[in-house]
Amino acid sequence: NKECQWGGEERGILIVLSGPSGVGKGTVCSALRSMSKDLVYSVSATTRLPREGEIDGVNYFFKTREQFLSMIDNEELLEWAEYVGNYYGTPKAFVEQTLASGKDIILEIEVQGALKVKEKFPEGVFIFLLPPSIDELQNRITNRGTESEETIRKRMTAAVEEISLSEHYDYIIVNDKVEAACNRIRSIMVAEHCKKERY
Ligand code: 5GP
Repeated sequence: NKECQWGGEERGILIVLSGPSGVGKGTVCSALRSMSKDLVYSVSATTRLPREGEIDGVNYFFKTREQFLSMIDNEELLEWAEYVGNYYGTPKAFVEQTLASGKDIILEIEVQGALKVKEKFPEGVFIFLLPPSIDELQNRITNRGTESEETIRKRMTAAVEEISLSEHYDYIIVNDKVEAACNRIRSIMVAEHCKKERY
């Protein structure tokens, strides 16, 4: 860092945000982005069909199975995972460019993928969002009204499994109120920027 005699702050911080479907990761993430203008969001590729209102290139890069498999073959993905019948993956080049340019990037991904990212970026900051309770999670998924009963059931099963893997994360945040959850994440980021390892 040119301004500072002590160096530091050269590379951005990679933040991984996970949590079960319905916990409110999406809401927390967009609130966080509007509060922290410098935070870059990683747009994932997926074979899932777009939900109403989702835009290609903004929410996801929507891909066919064939396109997704060729991204895997060409090693374009930092990680990928299969989740409730669809593929999801993080485009690698964008993450690397963002970090090299000194900006922080947030990946909103499920647990299996997060664990793969942790192997490649052990210095990343891994945050797990918990619902206030399992009942509340079920309410949130159901009230979203975007999924069939069958999918809701599968997502609830995945949720219990994901929560059991939250021990691999650095921080646990209960998402009771979006604003409170965002503030906690912002505090974590401030603390991470001050870590001695960055100097
Ligand atoms: P949804 O279908 O609700 O948008 O996402 C389903 C799950 O996939 C969520 O837990 C979401 O965080 C996760 N996900 C989204 N993008 C990625 C990705 O690039 N990689 C992995 N491993 N999971 C992702």
